[in-house]
Amino acid sequence: MLLADLNTGEKAVVVRVNGHGSFRKRLIEMGFIKGKEVRVVLNAPLKDPIEYEIIGYKVSLRREEARQIEVVTEEEAREALQTDEHLQALPGDMEEEERLQRALAHVAEERHHNIRVALVGNPNCGKTSLFNIAAGAHEHVGNYSGVTVDAKEGHFRYKDYDITLVDLPGTYSLSAYSPEELYVRKNLLEAMPDVVVNVVDASNIERNLYLTTQLIDMNLRVVMALNMYDELRHKGDKLDVKQLGYLLGMPVCPTVSRNGEGIPELFDTILQVYENATPRLARHLHINHGAELEKSIVRLRNLIFSNEEIRSRYSTRYLAIKTLEADKDVAGIIGTLPNASQIAAACQEEEARIEGLLGTSAESAIVDAKYAFIQGALAETYEKYQAERPRRTFTDKIDAIVTNQWAAFPIFVLLLWFIFWATFTVGQYPMDWIEAAVAWLGGKVGSLMAEGWVKDLVVDGVIAGVGSVLVFLPNILILYFFISIMEDSGYMARAAFIVDKLMHRIGLHGKSFIPMVMGFGCNVPAIMATRSIESRKSRLVTIAIIPFMSCAGRLPIFVLFAGAFFPQNPATALLGIYLLGIVLAILSALLIGRFVKDDDLPFVMELPPYRIPTAKAIGRHTWEKGRQYLEKMATTILIFSVSLWALGYFPRHEGATRAYQQEHSYIGIIGKAIEPVNEPLGFNWKMDVGLLAGVGAKELVISAMGVTYAQDGEEYGKQGDSDETALQSALKATVPTAAALAFMVFVLLYFPCIATFMAIKNETGKWLWAILLCLYTILVAWVFAFAAYRIGLLLWPA
Ligand code: GDP
Ligand code: MG
Repeated sequence: MLLADLNTGEKAVVVRVNGHGSFRKRLIEMGFIKGKEVRVVLNAPLKDPIEYEIIGYKVSLRREEARQIEVVTEEEAREALQTDEHLQALPGDMEEEERLQRALAHVAEERHHNIRVALVGNPNCGKTSLFNIAAGAHEHVGNYSGVTVDAKEGHFRYKDYDITLVDLPGTYSLSAYSPEELYVRKNLLEAMPDVVVNVVDASNIERNLYLTTQLIDMNLRVVMALNMYDELRHKGDKLDVKQLGYLLGMPVCPTVSRNGEGIPELFDTILQVYENATPRLARHLHINHGAELEKSIVRLRNLIFSNEEIRSRYSTRYLAIKTLEADKDVAGIIGTLPNASQIAAACQEEEARIEGLLGTSAESAIVDAKYAFIQGALAETYEKYQAERPRRTFTDKIDAIVTNQWAAFPIFVLLLWFIFWATFTVGQYPMDWIEAAVAWLGGKVGSLMAEGWVKDLVVDGVIAGVGSVLVFLPNILILYFFISIMEDSGYMARAAFIVDKLMHRIGLHGKSFIPMVMGFGCNVPAIMATRSIESRKSRLVTIAIIPFMSCAGRLPIFVLFAGAFFPQNPATALLGIYLLGIVLAILSALLIGRFVKDDDLPFVMELPPYRIPTAKAIGRHTWEKGRQYLEKMATTILIFSVSLWALGYFPRHEGATRAYQQEHSYIGIIGKAIEPVNEPLGFNWKMDVGLLAGVGAKELVISAMGVTYAQDGEEYGKQGDSDETALQSALKATVPTAAALAFMVFVLLYFPCIATFMAIKNETGKWLWAILLCLYTILVAWVFAFAAYRIGLLLWPA
């Protein structure tokens, strides 16, 4: 009996919940668990939803949802009391009520032990052989496809369970192209097997896994029978079965259905999955179809999800993927929804967008993404026996070079070096133009406005603030231009793969590497880029260590200090600073990793085939990142640069020099107040003011110090060589070398700028994380700057 068929006031006991994974999970959380009593509070005909009471709570379920719940009614239990010998053996003096309860529980338990298992797989993977051996049947087995034309059912008892085993026709996929495919799909969605056994031919694993990816999309309970395991062994191939299972989110059982090897283990696993005894192994995962397709999928999924009546029957993500694939059968389902035309319009838009960006139809892009997923999963788990000459596709040939054990790292490093060179050298030109333009604009606006604080606010606060955001735009665009090329061509996936092992040593993942590299450009987009990391722990730790990657905003400070204090070898000083950041990032990853709870869910690193990226996609991705940077940062940086301006501007000391003004402004007062704290590092209050300004954005450090040192600069400026700026001369004359070194170290490590702070807060969703990280970085900065100062004093006594 189904829960939906009960009348008002009737009681029943839950047997099982059918349907796809997330629906089942939701109902189980509501209390619909085997053996629990449920009462119908109100089920009026034509009324939806229906109201129920379960474990003392009232819940309302849609009729469609209640149809997915199998129950035992009191009437059925009474019937069983008459016929079931087990129940007739109950003591005769038992109360009627108690007797009924026992009967309900007994029948529920019995029915719960009646399960339906469907065999799904490619033709010739050994389904019928498995069926025969398990069900003791004698179906015809043949070494050609098309032997099984429709479903055969077999019944047998295994460990207290009555199993109905269904042998479905063989299919390569679950698209709606052939009658077999449609038949299998209908069977999976409508006859609702409790567990699906995906029979996979281990000797032809790559092609067989394609069907598996579609089963994953459907969010069913799947166990994989890795059949023909004898052939795999015979060939000498190696497969990490357990890891493959983790990556696919389903238990994998090696079987040989010719002789029955592994079959009992397979059924044990089926029962465990049915009873939810292996939640870690049998989990639902979303195959990553790549950023663009995922955007389309999420958009369609949300439109479909708004229809409550469909959510219980199908995984909405599955429907969205199939809609994008222009699946006729799913189109029929979608067509009945109230917002069908809206979904169709959105789908057309998305298909056109994908076609324009990727140069292929959404349908084939989805197929490619699935193969990329399979390639990634196999690259981590599968090793073909060497003697076999591999097929040499275009992708294989390139891979033979770029993932070669000797060439991979040099190529990777060379590429990174080139990208950085281009970003900073080429980027310098537009940077200079923007700076000049902002200065010109400031001067122009300034000359048009009357003297006073309003003018100062506009020129020094707003225009300068906007300028400090804008100057980094070229760097970011160039960096992302190259990153997009690497991503879209398929190289990035290999890069992540190459560094994966290395990254695992510090508890991170191959996918953490790219965001870390981006951190050298700007921490903000780097932190946004961590979104591609599936594992929560890896993602949090990666976010936490990105601030140690010395961003471009810090570079001018190092250049200025290195030029002034280490004129013999400024490059070495720079390199040393960058390396220190990397070392501390690694140490911090190890440290912070200990405090983050590990979800430890392995995931597949997709390996897409190499492809020439389209200009449109590159342009789009590059601009998108630039826009994200401007949108997210413009507001925060602006607010902070105006606030910092105000701290330096007030209280007013009219007629005083700028340096005097700054010294006696709020920021000067704060700088002086913290001077004792930083005294052990050799800093004076002017340097502290610079550090305070750096909280807004690191590039403000120099300009703030430029102001405080303005007077000193005039005094010392003439003594330095001509290439030196006034600030450099002033610093050289007043700051010991050891303190300068400590200052560089401090700037490298302390408080990520406010924009990064906001990015951390946004991406982790928690203020606490952002605040803790700030405190941590300041502490680290202080300790290491102190050490640098002490060591520096030994080398260059003051
Ligand atoms: P189906 O098309 O998926 O139903 O596959 P069949 O059960 O008809 O099997 C196809 C062929 O593979 C038959 O010749 C079987 O004897 C053979 N076969 C099935 N399972 C195994 C196995 O585990 N190992 C080996 N070596 N052959 C198998
Ligand atoms: Mg068959």
